[in-house]
Amino acid sequence: MRTPINVAIDGPSGAGKSTMARLLAQQLGFVYVDTGAMYRSIGLYAKRAGIGLEEIEAIVPRLPEITIQLRYTDGVQHIFLNGEDVSEEIRTEIISRYASAVSTLAPVREYLLELQRGLARDHDVIMDGRDIGTVILPHAQVKIFLTASAEERARRRYQELLEKGQAVEYDQVYQDLLARDEKDTSRAAAPLKPAADAVQLNSTAYTLEETLERMKTIIGEKTQNVL
Ligand code: C5P
Repeated sequence: MRTPINVAIDGPSGAGKSTMARLLAQQLGFVYVDTGAMYRSIGLYAKRAGIGLEEIEAIVPRLPEITIQLRYTDGVQHIFLNGEDVSEEIRTEIISRYASAVSTLAPVREYLLELQRGLARDHDVIMDGRDIGTVILPHAQVKIFLTASAEERARRRYQELLEKGQAVEYDQVYQDLLARDEKDTSRAAAPLKPAADAVQLNSTAYTLEETLERMKTIIGEKTQNVL
């Protein structure tokens, strides 16, 4: 069997990573690994355990209580926290804040590192996150750093939340996004930054289809002799 192909997609919140990664995985027949969903699930566990955002380190001794699994149901990926499907529940603004908070803790990152690397060892994967090309999969054959302007990212996220029926204000979404950008780029543990060998793609002016096509071209070029 050939070595699995690993595609790392990193970038700030709302750049479209998960939409792109999901579509690419479907079209290429790869496993999609949404690492943000893993941080969100740990965030949800912390919130349910009554841990406040200001005392988030209290989650660390409780990590052994947490099991996270990705499973497919009818071709759609679901994330399970201790056996419970939390795919929907993790997609709220409060859990975005919890995810951002737990992701600053080195023991949390270490805990997820093995899970993420294990998946990439065993399957062709498209993995999206913040530190995939830099820390988790430094030898990934393809690394893409996907960005878009903060306004465009906030607009997309706002639209997405509205479509889900969540009552949100654009300004709140925009401010939350800036705060998370700041947290993601300035934290000591695995900060958000492009890997030296990542291809950078700014999707601000592109439609979803155009971005997808560009990403497919990049993957095609980098895996020419393998796929
Ligand atoms: O991508 P998503 O918005 O679902 O990620 C939730 C949070 O988890 C991010 O704001 C980021 O702080 C954190 N995260 C991370 N490293 C990853 C994926 C997500 O720090 N690989």
